[in-house]
Amino acid sequence: MRFGANQWTESGPRGEWTVRQIRGNGKEYVCPGCNQVIGGSASHIVAWREDSLLASEARRHWHTPCWQRSAHTR
Ligand SMILES: [Zn+2]
Repeated sequence: MRFGANQWTESGPRGEWTVRQIRGNGKEYVCPGCNQVIGGSASHIVAWREDSLLASEARRHWHTPCWQRSAHTR
């Protein structure tokens, strides 16, 4: 068992994304939605496209509210 069930897919104008809600693991990331740092212990979203040629490189870390906003407007 690697992760719980905190993973799902979302379909939108930009295709189908796999989304995972994760807890912070001590690393910091820059959110592409607002260009602010996601704190090392903050719960946040990781999203990527299964059909991307470079799925691992397409993976992005988002603040949860930034992802929700972006997913519906782009
Ligand atoms: Zn953000």
